[in-house]
Amino acid sequence: MIAENLQRIRAEIAAAARRAKRNPEEITLVAVSKLFPVELIREAVDAGQTVFGENYIQEAAAKKPQLPEGVHLHFIGHLQSNKARLATETCDMIETVDSLKLATALNNHLMKSGRRMKVLLQVNIGRELQKSGVDPAEAEQLLRQMQSLQQLQMCGLMTIPPLSTEAEASRPHFRELRLLANSLAARGLFPEMENPQLSMGMSDDFPVAIEEGATIVRVGTAIFGRRQ
Ligand SMILES: *Cc1c(COP(=O)(O)O)cnc(C)c1O
Repeated sequence: MIAENLQRIRAEIAAAARRAKRNPEEITLVAVSKLFPVELIREAVDAGQTVFGENYIQEAAAKKPQLPEGVHLHFIGHLQSNKARLATETCDMIETVDSLKLATALNNHLMKSGRRMKVLLQVNIGRELQKSGVDPAEAEQLLRQMQSLQQLQMCGLMTIPPLSTEAEASRPHFRELRLLANSLAARGLFPEMENPQLSMGMSDDFPVAIEEGATIVRVGTAIFGRRQ
């Protein structure tokens, strides 16, 4: 079941990339395994999946030692600064940096172990009151403040657009994130990246996200089924 789902999603990723005249290999599929047991992650690993997304740091830390070698974890949930140490020990990328306080906490813990870590800036592209992420207008200032945090490799932007039943409703938000990333890149705010990463698109709208430039798509339900 999971193997077939993965095969179908990889085919849809490739088809969307072709429509946009992009190379499918530049798109990373993050299998969102939050609230699913390790057995199902292993099943996905057996089907060739290597990158997984988790939303809750305690859950990710509990699963980590049970996962096969070579599995990469992306943290995609809201992260509090007091969980920064656990996140640096558990994950390979944090997609949801959205404050200088959190970025500084991550940097401090990484400094102690002499490591660097890939991160994304989470942008609240729909400017929704209750949603995490920086306001698009504040992204530049936060990125400037983060330039001195040497342990963080700032790779690009991540967003969760406003909830909708229509995939096409996400398109203008995905496009806006891409334009924002391009303008920030032109100002030198992703100094280590030739092209910034764009993490956008979930089960219901990842093909649209790819057409609009996503380099990371985060897909849960379409791989693992409905969460309880
Ligand atoms: C749960 C979650 C996903 C996956 O959503 P699905 O609709 O199950 O594909 C992607 N991104 C984030 C940030 C999530 O919390």
